[in-house]
Amino acid sequence: MNTSQRTILVTGAGSGLGRGISESLAAQGHHLIVSDLHTASAEETVRRIAAVGGTATPLTVDVTSETSIQAGLSSIADRPVNVLINNAGLQHVAKFDEFPSEKWDLLDQVMLKGAFLMSQALLPGMRASGFGRLIHIGSIHSLIASPYKSAYVAMKHALLGLSKVLALETAGDDVTSNVICPAYVRTPLVDAQIADQARTRGLSEEEVIEKVMLAPMPKKTFISVEEVAGAAAYLISPVARNITGQVITIDGGWTVQ
Ligand code: NAD
Repeated sequence: MNTSQRTILVTGAGSGLGRGISESLAAQGHHLIVSDLHTASAEETVRRIAAVGGTATPLTVDVTSETSIQAGLSSIADRPVNVLINNAGLQHVAKFDEFPSEKWDLLDQVMLKGAFLMSQALLPGMRASGFGRLIHIGSIHSLIASPYKSAYVAMKHALLGLSKVLALETAGDDVTSNVICPAYVRTPLVDAQIADQARTRGLSEEEVIEKVMLAPMPKKTFISVEEVAGAAAYLISPVARNITGQVITIDGGWTVQ
């Protein structure tokens, strides 16, 4: 086997960034475990990968549930996972005073505890095989804040802390842990958010795009899925073996101001 071909599990791979990253890495010859809460969307990603000659396995996993994770991973036990991309996520936009505590818990369970549980489940196999890459999809909101996103900003900041600890605790093996922090990418998550922000701020959707989303970014453009997939491909490649505990920020210059 070509050691540069890896088995890569992506969570939340039935939509948006997770689907795009899976398609891009499959096109580079890796085998993808396309995991999502929704079986039909994971299967659709697998169909799209197969249609262009790639190989992928669909996997239904709810990253908030240890039972679901264990059941899912035991069904693919014959194929050790070399790379985990913790991508599953969701947004909830609401003023802090009205932020529903059940939404706070859900964002925590999916984006922070989910990343913890998935990493904990897959790390022993990575150590045993002598190679592992943990890639966490953070956000520009791992680094800066925006109003009305208290849970999202808190969980994405905390993900950096989790990744740094993982980097230290895996340093004795050929395992790394890093976070990719993109600014806005046009996915179903962002399209829903444009509508939410328009409602919360009393703006039109065009005004939300121009005045809220792209205004703070010097390059004033959405980030593409391919750019995020490219950063993941770099972190998986042999030349990134000593890059660990780091952040790759893809933000059109937003955070240098
Ligand atoms: P999306 O809504 O298109 O996809 C999210 C996926 O996560 C969906 O397929 C959904 O089913 C899955 N998911 C949700 N809860 C889950 C659970 N409990 N278990 C397993 N899967 C679950 O969103 P997206 O924009 O592609 O976002 C993907 C990741 O990228 C998220 O972590 C998000 O925070 C991050 N991100 C997105 C942007 C952006 O602008 N779109 C920017 C920075 C970071």
